[in-house]
Parts: sequence; C-alpha cells; structure tokens
Amino acid sequence: MKVHEYQAKEILARYGVPVQKGVLATSVSGAVDAAKKLHAETGAELFVVKAQVHAGGRGKGGGVKLARSFEEVEEKASAILGMMLKTPQTGPEGQKVRSVLIADAVDIEKEFYLGITLDRQTNMTVIMASTEGGVEIEKVAEETPELILKEWIDPAIGLQGFQARRLAFGLGFEGDAFKKAVKFILALYDAYESTDCSIAEINPLTLTKSGDVLAIDAKLNLDDNALFRHKDLAQLRDVHEEDPLELEASEHQLNYVKLDGNVGCMVNGAGLAMATMDIIKIAGGEPANFLDVGGGANPSTVEAGFRIILKDPAVKAILINIFGGIVRCDRVAKGVVEAANKVQINLPLIVRLQGTNAQEGKQILDESGLKVETAILFQEAADKVTKALAG
Ligand code: GDP
Ligand code: MN
Repeated sequence: MKVHEYQAKEILARYGVPVQKGVLATSVSGAVDAAKKLHAETGAELFVVKAQVHAGGRGKGGGVKLARSFEEVEEKASAILGMMLKTPQTGPEGQKVRSVLIADAVDIEKEFYLGITLDRQTNMTVIMASTEGGVEIEKVAEETPELILKEWIDPAIGLQGFQARRLAFGLGFEGDAFKKAVKFILALYDAYESTDCSIAEINPLTLTKSGDVLAIDAKLNLDDNALFRHKDLAQLRDVHEEDPLELEASEHQLNYVKLDGNVGCMVNGAGLAMATMDIIKIAGGEPANFLDVGGGANPSTVEAGFRIILKDPAVKAILINIFGGIVRCDRVAKGVVEAANKVQINLPLIVRLQGTNAQEGKQILDESGLKVETAILFQEAADKVTKALAG
C-alpha cells in the first residue's frame, strides 16, 4: 500500500527522521491558512505547494511549485488543486489532485538520494545512496551505476553504525552534517523496519544551507501482508489513488491487476495466471488483466471475477483457465455455469479445465446451453482464443 508524501513525513517524524515542515490543505483558502499557520510556527516566508498524489515525478509534471507570498500560495494552490497531474508514473490521463501540502521551503545546498528496499537476489534489505539526488534515480542506476552506494543489512543484526557511517562518508558529508546524516540513515532504517515497509525512499535528501540534513520528499510503500499489525497505518489508505477495478477485486480477495490488452482472463494460481498470459500472447491476443481467483474457485469468486473483467470495455474475449488440484473441475464448471447465468456475458468465453474430473467439468459446460468453448489442452485453448479474436 502506498501512502501520500505528507503521511510518509508524519510517520518518519515519529521515528526521529528530520523532515521538512508542512501543513496539508484540501482547498485554496485552506492552503493560504496553512501557509499562515506555518509562518506563525516557523517564520516561513517561502513556501512549496505540493500536489499529493501517489505517483512520483510530480515536480516535472507541474505539481510542485515555489510560492514567495501568501498571494502566490493562493495562485499556485488554485492551479494545482483539481488538476489532472500527469507524470511518468501516472496513467496517460493523469491523476486528479485532491490535496496539497504547503511546505516550509528549504534553501538547498545539495540534494542526495537515499532509498531502502528488499534485495530479492541476496534476500537482504539494501540501503542505496547517491550524490545524484533529485533527478530520476532510475536513470542514474542505468547509466552510471557506480554512483550508487549500497549497504546490505544482515536481518539478524540489523543496520550497523559503521554501515551508516560508510554511506554518509561516501556521500561526502563532513563534520556536523556527517553526524546528522548518520543519524538520519539510522532513523530511516528504524522506520522502515518498524512499519514493515517494502520501500522507503527519500529523493531528495537535502543538506540545507543552514547545515541541516532533511527529507523534503518521502515515499513509503507499506507491505500489504503486514498491515494487519499496523491498524493505524492501514487507515491511511486512499482509495481515490487506486484503480477502481483493482479495488473491487481486493474487496473480493481476488488478485487482479489491470493491463492494456483485449483478452480477459480468470485463472487459479499466480503461476498458471502468468503462463495463461503467455498463451494469450502466443494466440495473438494481449491479456487485459492478471486475475488469480485463488485455490478454491467457487461460484461467488467466479461471479465476482466475471463482473470485474466485464467492466473493462477493452475486453473482446474471456479465457478461463483452471487447474483442478485443490478444487475439482466439475465443481468449478458448475460455478462457471451458475455465475455465467447471473452475469450477462456477450463475449466469446473459452474455458479450459485440467486436472481432477476435467472430463466431467467439460461435459457440464458443453451441456449447459451456455455459449462457451471448452478445452482440455493449453494449445486447444490458445487456438480457440485466436479464433474468437479473428471472428
Ligand atoms: P517529486 O517531483 O514528486 O519527486 O517531488 P519532490 O518533493 O521531490 O520535489 C521536486 C523538486 O522540487 C525537488 O527535487 C527539489 O528540487 C524541488 N523542491 C521541492 N521542495 C523544495 C524546497 O523546499 N526548496 C527548494 N529549493 N526546492 C524544492
Ligand atoms: Mn522526489
């Protein structure tokens, strides 16, 4: 689960990570009030108006703007609030901005990158740091990977002081700023571990002209599988930022990811779902989604799956691919018939059943009166998808 920048900064501050001060606003007048409040608290004269959407790259898309007065805060906030902000991380139509963070602008001496995530190759948490902060770190990683410093953390002992010092030294921090950078890195790691993050990224981490080490941007991804033990953090979910179909799927405990293609697919098991996406491509189609209905595909999950797939107007055919291991194919077939009778399906439907009672399952579908093409073999299913797309 992603959270907004302002929420990430609040969380990080609880763990002692120094963050730029800011106040959230959801209206233009609220933005001016927020700036006045900041001015009263910190003496801030210069502000940054920052769009709060889950996508990164907001600055380049026009979602981060400096304001030199309350009037400018008003002007910038009214430009940003309500806009469809397009960044490389949003869809082509952009993401609607519903709130802005009014931040106390910082005089930047230097910008750095600092990120923590899981390295699946080594099965260890890795901290990455770079002097090439502010800009796209993906580009740095591709073109000049030597400019990214890394420390891997043994999960049994956690981040060690010498590792934080090595990173701070490598970034070129000196004197008092060096000590602050070390403390920053240790605190960020503590926050990452304690809140079960999958990503904690500060870009840019800044050294200010007054010698402070401060986060002026913050991105946290929280591990969905650990949210049950962070009830307070689970409440930070912003459903406006999520794909509506993915949201509906998660309400039915379905694993759904929207894609750009034309063949909707419903599969049990993530591995088989990946393989099914491959055969759709081989058949000349493009998968419209990834959908794993889980081990025990029953009528209600199949029905929910149909409803979600059918809401995607790009879908031209549906392929159901079920392996009857835990669940028997005849039961799945009955579920498909039951669900298909409830949901109007006017698209070619191809069902491939394999495993326990596959023949019985095929028979149930063939005799159901539904307009459905059945298959036992992968290749058969692929051929039928090709035919459906051609017709
Ligand atoms: P992002 O574009 O979504 O990553 O948003 P950021 O919060 O990282 O802001 C984008 C850029 O705006 C930063 O890299 C900075 O260069 C600039 N910026 C943001 N806040 C401040 C600030 O307080 N002072 C100054 N001088 N620049 C800022
Ligand atoms: Mn940033």
